[in-house]
Amino acid sequence: MKRILVTGGSGFLGSHLCKKLLEIGNDVLSVDNYFTGRKENIAHLFGNPYFEVIRHDVTFPLYVEVDEIYNLACPASPIHYQFDPVQTTKTSVHGAINMLGLAKRLKAKILQASTSEVYGDPQEHPQSESYWGHVNPVGIRSCYDEGKRCAETLFFDYYRQHKLRIKVARIFNTYGPRMHPNDGRVVSNLIIQAVQNKPITIYGDGAQTRSFCYVDDQIEALIRLMNSPDDLIGPINLGNPTETSILELVQTIIELTGSSSSLEYQELPSDDPRRRCPDISQAKEKLGWEPTVPLKEGLTKTIEYFEELLKKGEHPA
Ligand code: NAD
Ligand code: UDP
Ligand code: UDP
Repeated sequence: MKRILVTGGSGFLGSHLCKKLLEIGNDVLSVDNYFTGRKENIAHLFGNPYFEVIRHDVTFPLYVEVDEIYNLACPASPIHYQFDPVQTTKTSVHGAINMLGLAKRLKAKILQASTSEVYGDPQEHPQSESYWGHVNPVGIRSCYDEGKRCAETLFFDYYRQHKLRIKVARIFNTYGPRMHPNDGRVVSNLIIQAVQNKPITIYGDGAQTRSFCYVDDQIEALIRLMNSPDDLIGPINLGNPTETSILELVQTIIELTGSSSSLEYQELPSDDPRRRCPDISQAKEKLGWEPTVPLKEGLTKTIEYFEELLKKGEHPA
C-alpha cells in the first residue's frame, strides 16, 4: 500500500483524485487550506480508515511521511486566482518549493498539476509541449500563468540539481461534478444559468475556443503519468483535443437542459486566450491514453450534479 499526499485534495480535481487513489488501494492524505476547496467534496470519504485530512497552507513547510505527492494546491478559476493574486503566486511558487523540499527529504516521486495557461494566448495551434508560449508577465492572469511557469522551472531544477523523480502534467480545461458552483468557470456558470433559465453570459463574441476534458478522463491520465517509468518526466499535455467554441458550448448546454435562457454578451476579460487545443500525441504514445468521454455525455453528468446542488439550495445568489 502506497502512502500518497494530494495537495488541494478537497478541490474539484483533488477530490476525484483522492477517491480514485483510495479505490485502487492506496493510503491517501489530503492537504488543503479550503480556499476554493469544500469539505462537501470529500465528505463521502471521511469514513474510510485509509483517508486522512490536514488543514494546511502549502506556502508553509509541511513535514509528513509519504511515498508519492500529487501537487494540485492552487485556485484554478480566473475569478478565484485573481481575488488575491499575490497569494496565488505564493501558492504556486512557495508551495512548489515546499513540496519539492518534502519530496527531496523523502526521496518521493512528485507530480505537478501544471496548466495549458503556460502557453498563454498561444500563437501555435494546437499547442504541443515544445511550444514555449505567449504569456503576458504583467497582466491580470500573470499571477497564475507565471506562477505555474515558475513552478515548472523549479520542478526541472530539482530534477537536474537534486535528481528528484518528477512528473509535470499540463492540464487543459477539465470539467465535471464537484466544480465549485461559484467559481465562475465557463462550464459551471453556463450550466447553472441554463438550468435556472437565467441569461447565459458570453464573454466577447463567443468565438474563442477551449477543449473540454471530462474529469474521469483527466484523473486516469494523472494516475497513469505518476505510474509511468521514471524517465517520463514531461511536461506532457493532458486534455481533450476536441476544440469547441464558447458559442457551441452554449448551444449544447441549452439543448441538454431544454433551457429558455437568453444570451447576454459581456466584455471579454483582458488576456483571455482566443484559442486553446492540446496536441496529445505524447500522451497517446507514452501513456497509451486518450479521452473517452464525449462532451455531451460529460455535460449530462455535470448538469445532473448541479441540478442536485440547486435542489439542496447550494447555489450562487
Ligand atoms: P480547485 O480550485 O477546485 O482546487 C484547488 C484546491 O487547492 C482547492 O481545494 C483549494 O482550497 C486548494 N488550495 C489553494 N491554495 C492552497 C494553499 N495555499 N494551500 C493548500 N491548499 C490550497 O481547482 P481544480 O480545478 O481542482 O484544480 C486543481 C489543480 O489543477 C490546480 O493546481 C490547477 O491549477 C490545475 N489545473 C486545473 C485545470 C482545470 O480545468 N480544472 C486546468 C489546468 C490546471
Ligand atoms: N520542506 C518541507 N518539508 C520537508 C522538507 C523541506 O516543507 O520535509 C521545505 C523547507 O521549508 C524548505 C523547502 O521545503 O524551505 C525546500 O527544501 P530544500 O531542502 O530543497 O531546501 P532548503 O531546506 O535548503 O531551503
Ligand atoms: N466565459 C464565458 N462566460 C462565462 C465564463 C467564461 O464566455 O460565464 C469564457 C471565458 O471568457 C473564456 C472561456 O469561457 O474565454 C473559458 O473560461 P474559464 O474561466 O472557464 O477558463 P479559462 O479562460 O481559464 O480557460
